[in-house]
Amino acid sequence: MTDSYDPSNIFAKILRREIPCHKVFEDEVALAFMDIMPRCDGHCLVIPKAPARTLLDIAPDALSQLITRVQRVAKAAVAATEADGLTLQQFSEAAGGQEVFHLHFHILPRRHGVALRP
Ligand code: ADP
Repeated sequence: MTDSYDPSNIFAKILRREIPCHKVFEDEVALAFMDIMPRCDGHCLVIPKAPARTLLDIAPDALSQLITRVQRVAKAAVAATEADGLTLQQFSEAAGGQEVFHLHFHILPRRHGVALRP
């Protein structure tokens, strides 16, 4: 069981345009923007526009729609950075490493032999 959605989180504020972001993709389902502390070139985040706290509580239909946007942004990020591959990362709840409690996928374009920054 996960906690309920709290609209005071920083990504909800980005969605409400209360704070800025470096947007790389937007449609009716999702917003993608550059991570403020990138762990590699092209590190960006994809979030649903609808409120969802974690992967554990988003509705399956909404997740299906969202994952197509994740793939689209991932392809663009890999192409833009001329990466060799991709790490897709998702943390759910504090125990899973989540710090911002609006569901998000980390898009991490990867190059052979290049470690992620801490
Ligand atoms: P972790 O910090 O352990 O990666 P999360 O998966 O919750 O946990 O990731 C939150 C991410 O959001 C971090 O990579 C952080 O750099 C990023 N972040 C926090 N605030 C902003 C912001 N205003 N704009 C863009 N990215 C942000």
